[in-house]
Amino acid sequence: MQLLYEGKAKKIFLTDDPDILHVQYKDHATAFNGEKFAVLPGKGRLNNLISSKIFEVLSEKNVTNHFVKSLSETEQLVKAVDIIPIEVVVRNVTAGSLAKRLGLEEGETLKSPIIEFYYKNDELGDPLINDDHIAMMELATSRQLNAIRLAAQEVNTILTRVFDDIGIMLVDFKLEFGTLKSNGELVLADEVSPDTCRLWDKETREKFDKDVFRRDLGDLPEVYEKLLRRLEGVK
Ligand code: UDP
Repeated sequence: MQLLYEGKAKKIFLTDDPDILHVQYKDHATAFNGEKFAVLPGKGRLNNLISSKIFEVLSEKNVTNHFVKSLSETEQLVKAVDIIPIEVVVRNVTAGSLAKRLGLEEGETLKSPIIEFYYKNDELGDPLINDDHIAMMELATSRQLNAIRLAAQEVNTILTRVFDDIGIMLVDFKLEFGTLKSNGELVLADEVSPDTCRLWDKETREKFDKDVFRRDLGDLPEVYEKLLRRLEGVK
């Protein structure tokens, strides 16, 4: 297979169909813009299985997305997209950079969800941007940005309920969107996994996400395995 792109956590290969790509999840964990790095055996399998499960749930709820099907424990097929270089973060509870930037305690439930946009650019360290910056840099049209905002809210509503049903609080998460190579349609893309979400046990506040790696709180594959087992019951 011809390698199209290798990122921090995934390899993307071309297929015979120009509209379909083959994604292979790697065992690599990175944090702090690549400064912290480790190979954690089993992580690729867990991210692939968890993200596939979440995209299946979202497809069921008619959220248009790039996911086609799972191929193996570490591989999936997705529709080819041009990624819009915006990281869309949705927050329900204070944590991470929000708590740090505004001097807030972590763990305070927000009165209503907050949506933030970051410019996806490693060299600049993914700076926080707003609608005006997005328009100025022509990262997305205002119509696309409205659709992105609505889709992010919809994903938040769906996933908050899914996780709540298995005793987990969806604290915050990051989404990426793209336009299909085939017809330009805006779709949810990339992955939705414990690498890209903060997930806390509702009762014990135990973390089921990449903060376990970022903050050296335990064995990351073990924690992701527990999350996968809880998600297995979700229809
Ligand atoms: N996030 C991500 N990729 C990034 C930055 C953030 O998936 O490059 C996710 C992160 O896992 C968390 C949410 O987006 O669930 C909000 O992250 P935050 O802005 O708090 O940044 P952090 O402190 O995690 O770097």
